[in-house]
Amino acid sequence: MHFRFSFEHNCDTITIITFGKEVNCGFSQLPMGKIIAIANQKGGVGKTTTAVNLSAAVGMKNKKVLLVDMDPQGNTSSGVGIDRRNLKNTSYELVIGAASAQEAIVHTEFSGLDVIPCGINLAGAEIELISIENRLSTLKNALATVRGAYDFILIDCPPSLGLITTNALCASDTILIPIQCEFYALEGLSQLMNTVRIIKRQYNPHLEIEGVLLTMYDGRLNLTQQVVHEVKKYFPKKVYSTVIPRTVRLSEAPGFGCPIFYFDRSSKGAAAYSALADEFLKANR
Ligand code: ATP
Ligand code: MG
Repeated sequence: MHFRFSFEHNCDTITIITFGKEVNCGFSQLPMGKIIAIANQKGGVGKTTTAVNLSAAVGMKNKKVLLVDMDPQGNTSSGVGIDRRNLKNTSYELVIGAASAQEAIVHTEFSGLDVIPCGINLAGAEIELISIENRLSTLKNALATVRGAYDFILIDCPPSLGLITTNALCASDTILIPIQCEFYALEGLSQLMNTVRIIKRQYNPHLEIEGVLLTMYDGRLNLTQQVVHEVKKYFPKKVYSTVIPRTVRLSEAPGFGCPIFYFDRSSKGAAAYSALADEFLKANR
């Protein structure tokens, strides 16, 4: 069999010759995974809970998902049962350009879900990135080599607007913003949206809002209704109709190293993240 594979980067063309037949296809025709940053610099709003459970839910609905842990706290990694102590390559090596994405991927026992875990040294990356050339495109370049293998790549961001979050936003097609239904819910959102605007203008013109997710919802409280109203006013047409209820089962699952579906599949939290995955997939059909 005569087989030749040639790769011409500049003209964005792949040529494959099999049995003398030549097939050309542009990269735009290749399936590319959508990259979504889960970000809000406010702490404890449900970023990690959403990253883990939305990824798992989408994975269970026959999609291939890569979950990237970019928060030095490593809660996403431990939330899917990964022991962070003896990892050779992690999101830290990826972001400083010391390993390829392929080398850092860990396959999980959960349906459709792969993970790039975070190493214990990621906390130092904020400082190290300052002296790295192309510091805002390291993650984007690393993920470019694997995005064709996934339907979606979800990045869990730390609670700050530092270089790690900026790097994630530069690598992403969209940002998904979890907002906790509490008194200070809207605090800091104008700063977050300002950062998004700057990144859009200077580095990543395609960055859009994927959706805004209301978390830790308690419909019995008047305050919750007020927050929902305010958030919908702030983000017209961007707020998911699915809301995530406040439920203790969602906070217990990470202790068992698994997404809610593998801990208590009949819980309210599991139903909510499954409904969110349906809404998310419908919007991405
Ligand atoms: P950080 O900013 O520190 O990274 P985060 O935004 O990732 O935090 P989580 O870690 O997902 O937030 O959630 C904060 C805490 O609230 C955790 O203890 C988590 O288990 C709990 N939690 C998240 N969502 C819910 C929920 N819907 N119901 C009850 N507890 C929740
Ligand atoms: Mg987190």
